[in-house]
Amino acid sequence: MRFSFIFSTLCTVTWSASVITNKQVIDTSKAEFETTLNEADFESNLHQRYDLHTLGIKVKDDPTIGNYSEGDILLESPKKFVEENNKLGRNAIRQMYRRWPNGEIPYTLSSQYGSYARGVIANAMNEYHTKTCVKFVARDPSKHHDYLWIHPDDGCYSLVGKTGGKQPVSLDSGCIQVGTIVHELMHAVGFFHEQSRQDRDSYIDVVWQNVMNGADDQFEKYNLNVISHLDEPYDYASIMHYGPYAFSGSGKKTLVPKKSGSERMGQRVKFSDVDVRKINKLYNCPSGGSSSNNNQINTNSIVNNSPPQV
Ligand SMILES: [Zn+2]
Repeated sequence: MRFSFIFSTLCTVTWSASVITNKQVIDTSKAEFETTLNEADFESNLHQRYDLHTLGIKVKDDPTIGNYSEGDILLESPKKFVEENNKLGRNAIRQMYRRWPNGEIPYTLSSQYGSYARGVIANAMNEYHTKTCVKFVARDPSKHHDYLWIHPDDGCYSLVGKTGGKQPVSLDSGCIQVGTIVHELMHAVGFFHEQSRQDRDSYIDVVWQNVMNGADDQFEKYNLNVISHLDEPYDYASIMHYGPYAFSGSGKKTLVPKKSGSERMGQRVKFSDVDVRKINKLYNCPSGGSSSNNNQINTNSIVNNSPPQV
């Protein structure tokens, strides 16, 4: 069935346009240095998205479920994180210094990404550019000290918000899908997982007996004195919500929704409407989101906030 589908696809378009190689995803034999996307990457035609499995690439059902803290959130320092926990607002960061000034996120990416991966990453960034005022910009070393370094390290992971300096985002070959990348970039923009919200117990049951050994901490929620959900409702459809089988050790569900509207829980396809609204609120985007000249962010509050000493 799959073969016949692929075969018919190949017959209707030219061979060169319909086949990609592993090297067009990631070529680890190439020297690695920092580069940026170009116009052609942003304009690349991605109507044809490839099933990475056909290249022999292992892709998890949900690549954002990794081996890091909360799956795919990399902590710059667990000690620092714990100390900051009481100040962190789930599920969006509260500290102004963790927001990217003017919603501008400088980035570089690895030269090892091939043309296909570059197009998919550009496509994911375009989701932000068209729906929000967050803008990924090629890093200019003379201007940008803090920036994302997108490279194929090990699985898919990101830190949350701006952490300072050259900040890693890992997208290995199993992560080269638009929805997966949108999810990882949303961590970098400043969001945690949806089910970390303080009010999550009203919306989901965590079935602890089905959670794999050692993974209990993947389902933490945070009891905070002050929490901001950006005045948005709990969102089962968020691209930041775990799916029902996240970290299951038994093959049974670990997350059971308590209310209706959970059909898309765990989706890694695109932003939900609430995701878009939250990003636009966090960055004070003009209504409608997308804007090339966003002047409405109160940059004073960002500049005047400095990280705690730990
Ligand atoms: Zn995640």
